[in-house]
Amino acid sequence: MTESNLPDIDTTRPSAARMYDYYLGGFHNFEVDRQAADQLLKIYPQVRDSAVANRAFMRRAVRFMVSQGIDQFLDLGSGIPTAGNVHEIAQAVNPDARVVYVDIDPVAVAHGRAILEGNENATVIQADARDIEQIINHPDVQRLIDFSKPTGFLAVGFFYFVDDEGVKKILETFRSLAVSGSYLAITHGSDDDEIITNDRNRQALDVAKKIYARSPNPLYLRKKHEIEAMFEGWKLVEPGLVFVPLWRPEGEDDPGLDDPAALGMYGGVGIKP
Ligand code: SAM
Repeated sequence: MTESNLPDIDTTRPSAARMYDYYLGGFHNFEVDRQAADQLLKIYPQVRDSAVANRAFMRRAVRFMVSQGIDQFLDLGSGIPTAGNVHEIAQAVNPDARVVYVDIDPVAVAHGRAILEGNENATVIQADARDIEQIINHPDVQRLIDFSKPTGFLAVGFFYFVDDEGVKKILETFRSLAVSGSYLAITHGSDDDEIITNDRNRQALDVAKKIYARSPNPLYLRKKHEIEAMFEGWKLVEPGLVFVPLWRPEGEDDPGLDDPAALGMYGGVGIKP
């Protein structure tokens, strides 16, 4: 990607979406993102595997929800689309499945629009997900998602970019909207004692916080019990909130299984009783 003529895109600061794209081997990132990501990779090389494992969790969670009959998804902080997006997984099983992606990042949204062109059942909205009421009332959401039916809510690799008040507001809205049989999937970066087992880890997370503080997306790492509390009003399905690679792995080659704690992320899926 070149940096010329991109009026809405700030190429002077790294962005979480573009750094994540770089970790995943994508091309929708700029020098400023690569420099920031490389700085973090130097001290915390697991961040690349963490991104891969997080995407793999998302795919397993969506496949699980589709197997439970979910045919509509609201995906907050959806990121720059790389292979194996929510709509591809869901529509491979059910071509009528509907997906609304939401991301604040203009690069993520531009690529999302390009990929989704001609797909009547999936769209992407550029918005700050903390304006959750505005998102719910958005015409595309109203057209594609019928909240009187079970819905899949996704906040995968997302809430650790949102302050406490924003997370609370989004979760309250999900809780009040979701009918019985809806699902909520969350993965979340954490600085829990289970993860921070040595000084090097602690140092790596301090560096991560400093790097993301330079972007529009500062990091809010949370403890395991705080992430568990996000499922209030939902019942965690087996195996509960676990290190991301341990959530229903599909094979022994699944990413991150050799050292799940090292990837620094918890993940879980809850059902609305
Ligand atoms: N959900 C995808 C996945 O798991 O592969 C992408 C996760 S990526 C690590 C986090 C995304 O959240 C980025 O694309 C970033 O732009 C987006 N994001 C951060 N803050 C946001 C906000 N307030 N509203 C909407 N999106 C936001």
